[in-house]
Amino acid sequence: MDWAILGRVFISISTTGTAERPATDLGFLLHKHPAKVQRFSTAHGVAHVFYPEATDTACTAALLLEVDPLALVRQGRGKGRGGSPDLALAQYVNDRPYAASSLLAVALRTVYRSAMKGVCEQRPGLAEHPLPLRIELPAVPVGGAEGGATAMVGRLFEPLGWSVDAAAVPLDSAFPAWGDSRYAKVSLTGELRLADALQQLYVLLPVLDGAKHYWVAPDEVDKLLAAGQGWLADHPELDLITRRYLSRRWSLTRLAMERLALARLAESDDREAEELDNAVDDVPETETGSAVEAVQAETATVAVAEKPQPLAVQRREAILAALAETGAARVLDLGCGQGELVGALLKDARVTEVLGLDVSSRALSAAARKLRLDRMSERQASRVRLVQGALTYTDARLKGYDAAVLSEVIEHLDLPRLPALEFAVFGSARPTAVVVTTPNVEYNVRWETLPAGHVRHSDHRFEWTRAEFTGWAEQVAGKYGYTVTVRPVGPLDAEVGAPTQLALFRLDNPASEGSATR
Ligand code: SAH
Repeated sequence: MDWAILGRVFISISTTGTAERPATDLGFLLHKHPAKVQRFSTAHGVAHVFYPEATDTACTAALLLEVDPLALVRQGRGKGRGGSPDLALAQYVNDRPYAASSLLAVALRTVYRSAMKGVCEQRPGLAEHPLPLRIELPAVPVGGAEGGATAMVGRLFEPLGWSVDAAAVPLDSAFPAWGDSRYAKVSLTGELRLADALQQLYVLLPVLDGAKHYWVAPDEVDKLLAAGQGWLADHPELDLITRRYLSRRWSLTRLAMERLALARLAESDDREAEELDNAVDDVPETETGSAVEAVQAETATVAVAEKPQPLAVQRREAILAALAETGAARVLDLGCGQGELVGALLKDARVTEVLGLDVSSRALSAAARKLRLDRMSERQASRVRLVQGALTYTDARLKGYDAAVLSEVIEHLDLPRLPALEFAVFGSARPTAVVVTTPNVEYNVRWETLPAGHVRHSDHRFEWTRAEFTGWAEQVAGKYGYTVTVRPVGPLDAEVGAPTQLALFRLDNPASEGSATR
């Protein structure tokens, strides 16, 4: 009876009640009607929710996930989100070894999203109350258990107030000599708020499994801390949970622990966490390198995250500030790389639409993964598109936007190709505003680790002085009818200026442009 091998994973949630407080209130809490059998398509297959029993005194909601390995592949092709079929996401899919528990965790979050947040509009107040709960999991993968599979279930759930009954599932009941499988039959009983129970399952099922099916990106720390709010920080197995949830990525584990400690200190001061996030998400000067490696390299310096912020963060903030000045709502991120700026733009409510374009499908796959495009709400997903394209060719998809950003992109082109980009962006796409950033080569002498005469990144074809950049910007502005201002970004040195230079171009006559091109 190996559910996972059959491609099915199963969880049931039961409660008891009385005529005054009927057990069927569970249906309101889960936002799923007890009289219906419902199907949900999740990222990894179809989930069915049904109620084997639904009376005043006893109610059980069952969730059965039929894992569809092909869904992983289809999902990789962008699920029909406009514009993304050209994403080469095969690599994204291959990053996901199959693991039932984390699929179930994701399915729980998809199907019971509101319940997990503790939201219940139809019965206000209900979600705040602990309920008598019984959760049955006939086959939980327990991988590389520390101290024995069934014991680990106890260590994880008992401190949270659950009574745990866990037994190893034999490999084949007809052949006891074969021993136990890596699955345990688990039942949990306790008096908890349903939202807490769901969040604990969301975190602890993958912890038991010891393998996450998706790439463990830095944002997993955010998810862990969000789902762990109110119970994780004081859990006696905090170390084990954090380590296994983050698939033994030590840098992320340390980061999570630091953030938990900070959150305790600051009573979960959101701003502080946000700053740490920024510092860590960033990939200063390594650009298209692996973000995870960058996190590992950087975590040590992030510990207490005092100023100064990494240059990449300062640059992103300067770009966002320049865009805010223009009031842009529809924004192009040209040469978007791994999508850090796209992510920051999506957090800004004024921005209604972001199109990220890059020539590199690897960078776009990484961006899709980091942005969690596959798990974004429809509303959020409708604001963003990632497309592959080359900036040295005109592209009709880029017309009609309020602003375009070229962040650390121009220096990746061979100088003779630059006029082609200028025409494609300023001449053809013609957004109302353009923000361009590029290194200031004069500042390179201040980088202690940079050998004299070297550019900052092996793929930089050129780096300009302040005079060269200003000269270029003014020439482009004049040629295409824009007005430009140039400003420094990063620590300003009296002699050599700031490490990054930013040009903000604004179209001289947007009104007449609009009527001419639309
Ligand atoms: N804008 C990001 C990434 C900068 S790295 C940031 O600020 O961090 C430069 C990016 O430009 C790379 O992702 C590279 O693939 C992309 N790029 C370089 N030449 C390009 C071209 N001709 N067309 C489109 N993208 C290009």
